[in-house]
Amino acid sequence: MERSEIDSLVRHNIAGLTPYSTARDEYQGELGTFLDANESPYENGYNRYPDPHQKRLKARLSAIKGMPVENIFIGNGSDEAIDLIFRIFCEPREDNVVAIAPSYGMYRVAAAINDVEVREVQLGEDFSLPVDDILKRADAHTKALFLCSPNNPTGNAFPRAEMLRLADAFGGITVVDEAYIDFSDTEGLKDEIFARPRIVVLQTMSKAWAMAGLRMGLALADRRIIELMSMVKYPYNISEATMRIVKELLDLPVDDQVTEIKAQRAVVAEALSRLRSVKHVYPSDANFLLVRFDDADAVYDHLIGDGIIVRNRSRIKGCEGCLRITVGLKEENEKLLKSLESYEKESPVR
Ligand SMILES: *Cc1c(COP(=O)(O)O)cnc(C)c1O
Repeated sequence: MERSEIDSLVRHNIAGLTPYSTARDEYQGELGTFLDANESPYENGYNRYPDPHQKRLKARLSAIKGMPVENIFIGNGSDEAIDLIFRIFCEPREDNVVAIAPSYGMYRVAAAINDVEVREVQLGEDFSLPVDDILKRADAHTKALFLCSPNNPTGNAFPRAEMLRLADAFGGITVVDEAYIDFSDTEGLKDEIFARPRIVVLQTMSKAWAMAGLRMGLALADRRIIELMSMVKYPYNISEATMRIVKELLDLPVDDQVTEIKAQRAVVAEALSRLRSVKHVYPSDANFLLVRFDDADAVYDHLIGDGIIVRNRSRIKGCEGCLRITVGLKEENEKLLKSLESYEKESPVR
């Protein structure tokens, strides 16, 4: 039997894993006398274990995303999917991953927890993707490459052709985190997973879909990868309550909200760029702006004084002097701009 491209990358203990199974895997009916799981027989809406395969929710998401259900993994936030990539592919203290920097902090945290080395490759000064540097850092033990596009905290999406060139040249799993893809005018890579089975696309319900409090993230990938993720995850990783509420909220379209946030992003970027304290507003494909100030710490403190909390990224290499500012409601953005104007009035001209 020929082993698939994917299986040759999987850790030995995972390849040989017998996953936890439930009696309900054998009984497909909806109605029955369920005396198999030691649940309480007293109905209250939540007395039964949830569907570990999340079949109904996957069917809904399949229609929304235009992806077959076999290519969808649902996790307790994207963070679960990130952790699973490490647990499935990376032998602790032996394998490594390559990640871009600056980027989302969770790749590094998940790597540290799993005792896997991360080789960070600094983006170009304009936050461009250093394709050749990334390929040079990968070796025979590099199992995964973490890209984030649009990238957090820089806000830019990388050119599709460059990401595909990387994915093709790199022999391991290329993870493309698309948490912010709904705010971008560029198309994501999800449709590439069929021709390129080593690409894993991560999406989330936490940003454009406005469900950060519910904790739900998606991985879109080759069916063998989805099979492995489903095998390694906690059986009941998504609660009945979460699935029920997500299904309700999926009926409320968010397209208009995304359109409004993108419009506000342009308004705020333009207003910021006219401020004396602002050195640079980076272009953004996401729902936030990375902004370089003359004195990021002073601006940060001033905003806090006005009850406005932004993310201080000024101590991150490549983001020196920068605050990351989420685009909010029109009123919130106006409050931000007003506070910055008062900062300039109070602070001496530099
Ligand atoms: C916000 C964000 C996520 C979402 O994480 P969840 O666990 O799904 O809430 C994923 N990746 C990046 C880069 C993010 O900024």
